[in-house]
Amino acid sequence: MVNLPKDDRSCGWYQALPPAAPVTRLNGVQQADYAVLGAGFAGLAAARRLAEHRPDARVLLVDAQRVAEGASGRNSGFVIDLPHKFALEHPDPAHKQKLLGLNRAAIAQLDGLVQRHRIDCQWSAVGKYQGAVSARGEAFLDHFEHLMNDLGEPFRMVGHSELSAVLGTAYYRRAIFTPGGYLMQPAALVRGMADHLPDNVELLEQSPIRELQRQGGRWRLKGELGEIHTPKLLLGTSIFTREFGYLKHRLLPVMTFASWTRPLTDAELGRYGGELNWGLTPADHAGTTLRMTADRRILIRNSYRHVPRYGSSIDERQRQRIQADHRQAFLVRYPELAEVPFTHTWGGVYAISRNFTNFFGRLEDGLYASACDNGVGVAWGTVSGTLLADLAVGAESQQLRDIQQVTGMPSLNPPEPILGMGVRSRIALAKWQSRREL
Ligand SMILES: Cc1cc2nc3c(=O)[nH]c(=O)nc-3n(C[C@H](O)[C@H](O)[C@H](O)COP(=O)(O)OP(=O)(O)OC[C@H]3O[C@@H](n4cnc5c(N)ncnc54)[C@H](O)[C@@H]3O)c2cc1C
Repeated sequence: MVNLPKDDRSCGWYQALPPAAPVTRLNGVQQADYAVLGAGFAGLAAARRLAEHRPDARVLLVDAQRVAEGASGRNSGFVIDLPHKFALEHPDPAHKQKLLGLNRAAIAQLDGLVQRHRIDCQWSAVGKYQGAVSARGEAFLDHFEHLMNDLGEPFRMVGHSELSAVLGTAYYRRAIFTPGGYLMQPAALVRGMADHLPDNVELLEQSPIRELQRQGGRWRLKGELGEIHTPKLLLGTSIFTREFGYLKHRLLPVMTFASWTRPLTDAELGRYGGELNWGLTPADHAGTTLRMTADRRILIRNSYRHVPRYGSSIDERQRQRIQADHRQAFLVRYPELAEVPFTHTWGGVYAISRNFTNFFGRLEDGLYASACDNGVGVAWGTVSGTLLADLAVGAESQQLRDIQQVTGMPSLNPPEPILGMGVRSRIALAKWQSRREL
């Protein structure tokens, strides 16, 4: 039995979209030159690049759900150029420069698509703040400052009063602003990209694949109403890659959660007093992510869960509990908006590894995967999916060599229940240590 993704309808970003176009499902036996499984950032980028390399090929892009129902449409909408926090600690400066270059290539690619197809997704080059609430957060900021100096990238320290004027709250002591990141509406971006795929990509949604078989040099993807036969299969299935027996004991499923308000009224906006369209991530990574969207909603993201039985969303009781935590984080920041309700609370699952290493490359003959982005998959999914297609068609490039050098094998996990106990206690410890940053 394959554990299939089943994200619920609670995601605010998705609910804010107009109704989706009629769905096309996998039906009958389909022969394809290439198949891509998973239509998140990684799969969308892979399918597009395959089609650009091979305009006469038939490329099938398959997802178990509607596009944007998975993690790629449920995230906080930060498109980050800087290496991931753990990668920033890497001793080799060249390693970090490669990551930076790859992320920037992804951002340029997304920017090009948004402009060319006029994708309406709040796409904005506004950078991001990394904010500290307490002395603990400030210590993280000091360390981050040192890492940024090492990296040679521009940044700016933002003091309490300037920051308060932007955020509409005096809750943060200070922040570091980095200019290279973008913000966007993730469900709108993902759907917009799916709506403008090259002509030789066929998108099949609500078509869960339950089994992969290798037969006579071809891959056979078995769905509910049909199957696909292809010599080359690319997996952009994130944590679900485990379900097909690959990287099984190496990827860890983690869920994180967000809530947002309805758009603030003019009067509420007046009381808020800050600016529109900014994003702040916590200096202490276990803290709270905060966004004011371009359309006046305040978004709060925090809390992590290890979810060994990933694939379904949280139940109503868990949602209430998470929403209560988010509410507390909202009220300490915006007590003057106490009557503004949250309209949506949602979670999403992604893959991390214990050594924070991304997997990229060939799994078997004719089978390739990009899996495990450690929770920052917008830029990474885009660039890794693109380069995975290059690898599958045999195209050479410096970027392909770079990604091969900065990726590796996620480390093996200990067996359950030791793994679960270890991850749960680490998350609980981080939450307790960061309680003032929440
Ligand atoms: C609340 C939240 C906030 C986040 N914030 C950010 C952020 O601000 N910035 C950032 O960079 N990252 C963020 N992330 C992480 C980011 O969303 C993910 O890392 C990224 O979306 C992963 O993209 P992907 O394409 O690799 O995988 P996914 O988006 O998970 O796509 C995998 C797809 O595979 C499909 N699939 C799986 N199994 C099957 C099957 N058997 N048959 C058919 N289809 C299948 C799924 O339906 C899914 O659509 C956040 C995540 C969450 C949950």
